[in-house]
Amino acid sequence: MSRVNLVTGGAGFIGSHLCEALLQRGEEVICLDNFFTGRKRNIQHLIGHPQFEVIRHDITEPILLEVDRIFNLACPASPVHYQFNAVKTIKTNVMGALNVLGMAKRVKARVLQASTSEVYGDPTVHPQPETYWGNVNPIGRRSCYDEGKRVAEALFFDYHRQNGVDIRVIRIFNTYGPRMLINDGRVVSNFIVQALRNEPITVFGDGSQTRSFCYISDLVEGILRMMDCEGFTGPVNLGNPGEFTILELAKLVCEMTGSSSEIIFKPLPENDPCRRKPDISLAKEKLNWEPQIPLREGLKHTIEYFKKII
Ligand code: NAD
Ligand code: UDP
Repeated sequence: MSRVNLVTGGAGFIGSHLCEALLQRGEEVICLDNFFTGRKRNIQHLIGHPQFEVIRHDITEPILLEVDRIFNLACPASPVHYQFNAVKTIKTNVMGALNVLGMAKRVKARVLQASTSEVYGDPTVHPQPETYWGNVNPIGRRSCYDEGKRVAEALFFDYHRQNGVDIRVIRIFNTYGPRMLINDGRVVSNFIVQALRNEPITVFGDGSQTRSFCYISDLVEGILRMMDCEGFTGPVNLGNPGEFTILELAKLVCEMTGSSSEIIFKPLPENDPCRRKPDISLAKEKLNWEPQIPLREGLKHTIEYFKKII
C-alpha cells in the first residue's frame, strides 16, 4: 500500500507543485482546497491520475479522513489576498491548524505546517536564524497573517508536547514560479505581468527594501526532505539566501523580458519589512538542502509561463 498524503491548499501555487512531486514518488495524494486563491487549472493535469483525489472543502471546518501524512498549506499567501478578508485569514490559520492537528492526533499522521518568514515580522536581526523571535506588529494589517501563522506554530508545538503529535514546521521565505496567479499581487508575478504587458512596473516605496527569492522546485525539494527527516521537528527556514532590492528585481525583470515598461514608485504598504534573508545553516545541516536555482534562471522559467498564459 502506498502512503496517503493530504495536501491542504493543494490547488494553490506551492500545493499543486507538491501534489505533482508526491505523485511522481508513487504516493497517493488527496488535494483539499476551497479554491479561494487556488485554481482547478493548476491541478487539471493530475485529475484522472489513479492516485489523485480532489476534495472541495474549507479547512476551517473539521473533516474526517484517514491519511499517513498531512501537508498544511491552506492559507492565502499574497498580502492582497490575505488582507481581503483578514478575519477569515486568522480563522484559516488557527482553526485550520486545530483541524489538521486533531486529525493527525486521531490517525497518528505526521503533519507539516507551512509557516513563513513573516513570523520574523520586520526583522531587527539579519539574516534571520530560527532562534530569532521576531518583530511583529500584533495589530497591523499584516497581523492576520503573521500572528495567525505564529499561533499555528504555537499550536503545532503544544500538540507535539501535550499529545505527542509528530510535527514538522517549515518557515518558507518568498517563493516564486509558474502557477502564481496573474492577479496574485506578489512582487515577482506582478512585475513579470506588468513587464510583459508593457504597463508601468509598480515599485512600492523607494525599492530599497530587500527580499530573497526561492524557486519553486527548490522549495518542494526542501519540503519533502523535511517531511522525510526523522527526529527533527524544526522550525527550519527554507529559502534562497540570495538577497536583492525590489528595485534590482524590477530592473532585472525589465531586462529579461525586453519590456518598454517604465518603473513607477507607489507608497510603501504598512509594516512592509525592510530587509529579509534566510539563514539556512540549519536546513543545510539537518536536511542537506540548499537551493540550486539562481534568480535569473528561475525568472526565465516563470517569464516563459506567464508569456503562455497572458
Ligand atoms: P496560494 O494562495 O497559491 O495557495 C494557498 C491555497 O490555499 C489556495 O489553493 C487556496 O485556495 C487555499 N486555501 C485558502 N484558504 C483555504 C481554506 N480556508 N480552506 C481550504 N483551502 C484554502 O499560496 P502559496 O504561495 O501556494 O502558499 C501556500 C502556503 O505556503 C501558505 O500557507 C502560505 O502561507 C505558505 N507560504 C508561502 C510563501 C510563498 O512565498 N509562496 C511564503 C511563506 C509561506
Ligand atoms: N512590492 C512592490 N510592488 C508590487 C508588489 C510588491 O514593490 O507590485 C514589494 C512589497 O512592498 C514588498 C516586496 O515587494 O516590499 C515583496 O512583496 P510581496 O507581496 O511579494 O511579499 P512580502 O514579502 O511583502 O510578503
